[in-house]
Amino acid sequence: KKITIAIDGFSSTGKSTLAKQLAKHLGYVYVDTGAMYRAVAYFAMDNGYINEESFDKETLINALPDINLKFQFNPELGFAEMFLNEVNVEKEIRTIEVSKFVSRVAEVSEVRAKLVEQQQQMGKDKAIVMDGRDIGTVVFPDAELKIFMTASAETRAQRRFDELQAKGDDVSYEEVLKNVQERDYIDSHREDSPLVIADDAIEIDNSYLTREEQFTAVLELIEE
Ligand code: C5P
Repeated sequence: KKITIAIDGFSSTGKSTLAKQLAKHLGYVYVDTGAMYRAVAYFAMDNGYINEESFDKETLINALPDINLKFQFNPELGFAEMFLNEVNVEKEIRTIEVSKFVSRVAEVSEVRAKLVEQQQQMGKDKAIVMDGRDIGTVVFPDAELKIFMTASAETRAQRRFDELQAKGDDVSYEEVLKNVQERDYIDSHREDSPLVIADDAIEIDNSYLTREEQFTAVLELIEE
């Protein structure tokens, strides 16, 4: 039986690691909805609609029809990469600069409406693992399995910091921690679809779980 698996939670809780493991194991499609919000934020930055001082929401809203987002599976990497208007932006969207603006872009209702609709289309045949902030509450409220992941802000910042360092990004741990906390705040306080745990979601705090332990625990839930 094919099901829809929704994985939500705060940033850097290991959602995508778990989602990728599950998708691979089950032969399901994995969709990283954060990549879609990141691509829109990158588009806004690249066109000068958002910077440290200002955010021209109206212009971004008017430009939404010109934003074409597509995932393309890369067999070498084993996951799908994000394409913005036919250009691979997988690297560009993972920078700390994009992380700084993305939550503000994700607050815009028109942006959310566009992306949610595309996500619902992608999941209409089930057999999908989707991760984000509002998958179990807004995108697929009827998902058969909903996981909500948490971990302490420090654990999460350390993970994100290690990832950025490995890529050669010159950031401090403090800067990453501040960014993680700021995004948590904006994501859980926005008016449109704030980050909340769905009533029927299963919460997993993975501060002290290894990847394997976490994966095994979730597989057991699926087999139930
Ligand atoms: O998952 P990731 O950390 O890459 O997401 C980046 C940002 O995109 C989040 O901090 C949040 O502001 C936004 N987002 C969202 N809804 C989703 C996925 C991501 O608002 N479903």
